[in-house]
Amino acid sequence: MRDDFTKTTVGIIASRAGYRCSNPACRRATTKADPVDECNFLNLGIASHIKAASTGGPRYDSIMTPEERKNAQNGIWLCTKCAREIDASPEAYPVETLLTWKRQAEEVTARDAASTPDGIAEAVNTIEKTINLIHEFIDVWSQNDPVFKPDFSNFGGRIKICVNG
Ligand SMILES: [Zn+2]
Repeated sequence: MRDDFTKTTVGIIASRAGYRCSNPACRRATTKADPVDECNFLNLGIASHIKAASTGGPRYDSIMTPEERKNAQNGIWLCTKCAREIDASPEAYPVETLLTWKRQAEEVTARDAASTPDGIAEAVNTIEKTINLIHEFIDVWSQNDPVFKPDFSNFGGRIKICVNG
């Protein structure tokens, strides 16, 4: 007897993860337009059981009740590839790891839901202004202190562009 998620619960688990795979190393989108049917979409995601739906399954917990087993709290949204992998190697992906993935995926989804393209552009603008202020400060300092010789060779390419620009 499997304690499967209801369709409603599957929708809740997927929505909480923003319909992206919860594996932080993956995070691929799990829905896309059906290439041949304009009225349909393809689902490439699965609501996986964190603790198995039936005896002998990966990460099975005999103490859980069937209600707990099919609750959204026991589900993690994954792409089909990652879902296969966590169940094929449960020792490599213990409950604690999956709970961490789930929490992080939900945090990222909440952050994405709070951001607009304008908001992101504003944040980038603020960062650029701050970097320019730091450079001005360094310029003034290096002009007034002959011992201070700033060296930007250790900075990554992105900051280097800002230094020159
Ligand atoms: Zn994945």
